[in-house]
Amino acid sequence: MARSAIFFLLFLVTNASLALLYPFTLSRLLLTLSIYAVGTLLMLYLLFHPRNQWLVANRSRVEGAGCVALTFDDGPDPVDTPRLLDLLREKGVKATFFVVGKRADQYPEIVRRTWAEGHLVANHTWSHPSLFCFLTPGRLRAEIERGTESIRRSCGFQPRSFRSPVGLRHPLLGPYLRDAGLEYISWSVRTRDTLTANSTVLAQRILSQAASGDIILLHDHLPAGTDVMLEALPRVIDELRKRGFEFVLAGSREHVGGRALEPAPCEPVR
Ligand SMILES: [Zn+2]
Repeated sequence: MARSAIFFLLFLVTNASLALLYPFTLSRLLLTLSIYAVGTLLMLYLLFHPRNQWLVANRSRVEGAGCVALTFDDGPDPVDTPRLLDLLREKGVKATFFVVGKRADQYPEIVRRTWAEGHLVANHTWSHPSLFCFLTPGRLRAEIERGTESIRRSCGFQPRSFRSPVGLRHPLLGPYLRDAGLEYISWSVRTRDTLTANSTVLAQRILSQAASGDIILLHDHLPAGTDVMLEALPRVIDELRKRGFEFVLAGSREHVGGRALEPAPCEPVR
């Protein structure tokens, strides 16, 4: 909470620096611009850098030599997630799915299948708000809690892992995640699958970066579909296996208290 308070103080000082412009002189203008620029850049770094630890403790790697974790954000998708699950089953690979609560409520049977096939299901907020770092405290808490609830409704598992939209931070995210018993999972390989139209380019980009301990960021739901990722993935899996890598989950499937849960019956939201 102390860091949240320091962040708000930084915000206030940065904006209050504008008062130095009065009475206007050139030296005051330069001083104000300097304070405002430094304060703004620092805030942007703290809110936007996916691996910065200052506002929210987070993990961007997995343990174990030769291990890598595939993570898929923004699903479930009624078409592409089942295609991905088929592919992962065929390859014998387990992965981590950061699901959007609203979508999980729309397609609970897909979330349940994801869980039942041994993957990890994790919280990616309720509605994936694009202005995540500007949410009011109440809305931020609701995004976290409703995301967790939708996963519990779908597959009976209380998620323990969280990732925010686009990796954005919020000054209150750290304490709220602690309250909710969630660990923030970031990534170490940004594949840019959302911007890549060529599967060979995508596969090469992943393969040129992947190293032991990496958490790889991909998406199983995109407005234009995930054909490119689905085409690149078999090559990526085969090549990483050839290099001796093992695919692991980005977090634990164990329930709080150490008990591994079986999926509960699916209860679609009406
Ligand atoms: Zn996302």
